[in-house]
Amino acid sequence: MLQKRRDVSGPETRDSNCALNKIAEDHGIANHILSSLPHATLKRILPDLELIHTVPGQIIDQVDGPIEYLYFINRGLVSLVKTMQDGRTVEVGAVGIEGITDPSALFGIDRAIVGSMVIPGGAMRIRRDILRREMEKDNALLDTMHKCVRFATSQLVQTAACNRLHTLEERCCRWLLIAHDSAQAKSFPLTHEFLAMMLGVQRAGVSIAACYLQKAGLIQYIRGRVTITDQSGLKDEACECYGAMRAELHALFGTPKQR
Ligand SMILES: [Zn+2]
Repeated sequence: MLQKRRDVSGPETRDSNCALNKIAEDHGIANHILSSLPHATLKRILPDLELIHTVPGQIIDQVDGPIEYLYFINRGLVSLVKTMQDGRTVEVGAVGIEGITDPSALFGIDRAIVGSMVIPGGAMRIRRDILRREMEKDNALLDTMHKCVRFATSQLVQTAACNRLHTLEERCCRWLLIAHDSAQAKSFPLTHEFLAMMLGVQRAGVSIAACYLQKAGLIQYIRGRVTITDQSGLKDEACECYGAMRAELHALFGTPKQR
């Protein structure tokens, strides 16, 4: 585990960590997976990483479409969505600055199983074949990608249970907290229509929930922008799923401050 390595680190490792932080800073890397990689690994894949900007509603992967790139989210949120035959859509997971899209594509899954839709931000993308090649000769990278698959799977499981068992208000709070973590800003664009689609409910239901959260002083909703005004209060109102997902993340990768 990364944390164990840090605990026993000598001057050489500390120098390497400083160099890693410098590389991440120089290239504007905020993604937690990239910034948790060993210095040598990040340095080697850096030339193959391409910074792109994402816009609201952009589709990254189509269902059953080929997966050409994997995206390390740098800011913003990619929602993993499932659309049913009648056109209704619901979010089954989300990838923020702590993750990478479609890690299973590195282990033999050639086609996307869910579409991906983003709220605005940016990502460092890399061709799938290049990342697979690097992974085959770098155990640290392979280990990290295994952890990414584990996290993605546990998030899908948690979201499935959440969608079935928890109230709309609780799910709203969970979604807003995750989006807030990855937006790296208290305020970000979000329409009621979009949030309703993510939660798989009618727009009117989301409007009522948002009104309740606003009256409680937890958020402000003005002209298509939401501002988190009381993050702690939002955590109190959220279901257990937000805390469970963060706990899993920290168990696998450590907290950002520990890296
Ligand atoms: Zn939940």
